[in-house]
Amino acid sequence: MTGPGLADIEVTALKGVGVQLAEKLAKLHIVSLQDLLFHLPLRYMDRTKVSPIGALQPNQNVVVQGVIKAADVVFGRRRSLMCRLQDGSGTLTLRFYHFSANQKAKLQPGAHIRCYGETRRGASGLEIYHPEYEFYDEQAPANLASTLTPVYPITEGISQARLRGLIEQLLPQLGQHSLPELLPNTEQNWGSLEQALRYLHQPPADAPLDQLLDMRHPYQQRLAFEELLAHQLSLLKLRQRVQAEGAIGLPENPLSLEKFLAGLAFAPTGAQQRVIGEIRTDLSRPVPMLRLVQGDVGSGKTLVAAAAALQAIANGYQAAIMAPTEILAEQHLQNFRAWFEPLGISVGWLSGKQKASERKAALAATASGEHQLIVGTHALFQDEVAFADLALAIIDEQHRFGVHQRLALRGKSRGLRPHQLVMTATPIPRTLAMSAYADLDVSIIDELPPGRTPVTTVVVPNERRSQVIERVRAACAEGRQAYWVCTLIEESEALEAQAAEVTATELATALGELQVGLVHGRLKPAEKEAVMAAFKAGQIQVLVATTVIEVGVDVPNASLMIIENPERLGLAQLHQLRGRVGRGSTASHCVLLYGQPLSQYGRARLSAMRETSDGFAIAEKDLELRGPGEVLGTRQTGEMQFKLADLQRDANLINRIRSCALDIAKHHPDLVDPIIARWLGQAQEYAHV
Ligand code: ADP
Ligand code: MG
Repeated sequence: MTGPGLADIEVTALKGVGVQLAEKLAKLHIVSLQDLLFHLPLRYMDRTKVSPIGALQPNQNVVVQGVIKAADVVFGRRRSLMCRLQDGSGTLTLRFYHFSANQKAKLQPGAHIRCYGETRRGASGLEIYHPEYEFYDEQAPANLASTLTPVYPITEGISQARLRGLIEQLLPQLGQHSLPELLPNTEQNWGSLEQALRYLHQPPADAPLDQLLDMRHPYQQRLAFEELLAHQLSLLKLRQRVQAEGAIGLPENPLSLEKFLAGLAFAPTGAQQRVIGEIRTDLSRPVPMLRLVQGDVGSGKTLVAAAAALQAIANGYQAAIMAPTEILAEQHLQNFRAWFEPLGISVGWLSGKQKASERKAALAATASGEHQLIVGTHALFQDEVAFADLALAIIDEQHRFGVHQRLALRGKSRGLRPHQLVMTATPIPRTLAMSAYADLDVSIIDELPPGRTPVTTVVVPNERRSQVIERVRAACAEGRQAYWVCTLIEESEALEAQAAEVTATELATALGELQVGLVHGRLKPAEKEAVMAAFKAGQIQVLVATTVIEVGVDVPNASLMIIENPERLGLAQLHQLRGRVGRGSTASHCVLLYGQPLSQYGRARLSAMRETSDGFAIAEKDLELRGPGEVLGTRQTGEMQFKLADLQRDANLINRIRSCALDIAKHHPDLVDPIIARWLGQAQEYAHV
């Protein structure tokens, strides 16, 4: 190994790569030869052997060759060109919905062609739609591929063939450039990096295709390991960078906490006490706290947040708490006002929907330090928000915020970092949390406050809607209250609001003796507040709502929840919604009122909801059924895009990756940047936030 490293050579060093192609490659994040080398196949095709047509099954990727027996344009629902291909063992139809006059002229009976494509069951038996094909000379067919054919991620203007060509040009040059092994000695049993890369770009004809397609080949695992390691290292680096900046140490002040707790109607649970203790220790140190609190819905995270905020405020600093939705933020505002104002603490409010004059006043009071606790939505992130002395930033419902956003709320206080407390209502399976939140310490509230009765969940088809409405009537006749939640497929607040209005009218008519209220995201804050207040006070018995009530809303007397079309929601979201009931001492019920027909997958999810009420178990199930992207939320997912690793499939590697990352950070710090650069390239920029 000699010469400059592959990371230092630009792709333009390859033959045939000019400025234009280089620009297109850059869209695939390929700038250096190393980037190209690490641009790994998504799948493979076996073009090394020809299959006899007579032995084919549907849904196989195959090479077939033979002679065209008939070629006709047929006019079915769509016009298509159909060619019958025969090879002596059987016949097959090639079907083209798009074809040129030239193609039609050449695909004539008697022509010999070799085709690549996927078989499917069609109107005429086995068919291949739009195969790739080439004509061949019956006497001397051209050679077949000698390796499995890789399929790469591509972008407009770059074909598979083009990428394959570039890789073919690059691989023989590998020996001339240094491609350092970056794994520490303890991980050398993964085998040589160069070997793995060569193999994955050009797997031999007898390579285990199924294993490769499953991404479980040892070479793929080796690279996935390194890729996950790179992510882990970048988050650890981020953590170090943040912690190096220092924070304000906030000595514990037992008096203020005791006074606050004494004013509450209940005592904290053991789990709450433990987590409060962990946070208080963090806060007392002059190093920014970076802590994630996980707790199932209803486990009492707000109280933990309050104890943390109090510690900052008791030391003369500000704290901020941010929530992802207006309704949840408003609920926090009410809670904190009720808890803190009697202690003489000034609580401020910042939201995007605020009147300009109110907002101006709130901004001023935040900047002057008059407000000691500031509650808000994303509006807290904006540049114009300046804090006098922010020592603690609390972010509720973390799964909706990504790393970027989390870090944007740093509003430096006296040149130091505020402490950060992140709370998630959606439990995250451990392996996933270890990857996505590697920069955070984790506390878990694993106990619910006493006196909760588990919610009984039933799954009912919409045909029995009128029975369900009678059930609402009966519950309300007993002095209970009910939620009726409307969901929509489209992420449209307007359509969702409309659907909820229709349902509210329907229920108001059917349940003439009851008060039916309606909340959705399109109402003005004051209107929403009024409806919520009336529901809380019991003046409204049935609250029709969109999924805006998903998080945080707390009305203990509500013991019945109907969720319409629950099959449209993820498990975590259903669990959140269901967590709105079962807060009082009466037995609560949740009715999942589904639309027919229900897919097998939808059925599996609804049964999971019926069978368990443990948020962690539900999160595991969600991960299994929908994958990490949905569990973490889209923002977070955007920051967790992998070339070939998969947080769920590779979960078995996580423990080892975690300890390897800590080992590297401690004993081989010089490896950190090269590993991050190799795998994350430009994406590592978030480490610079
Ligand atoms: P979440 O963890 O979902 O944010 P909340 O903080 O909203 O939960 O708490 C849910 C409900 O439980 C609230 O009504 C809260 O006042 C109540 N609560 C919290 N802690 C306790 C406790 N230790 N004992 C009794 N009730 C509690
Ligand atoms: Mg909460």
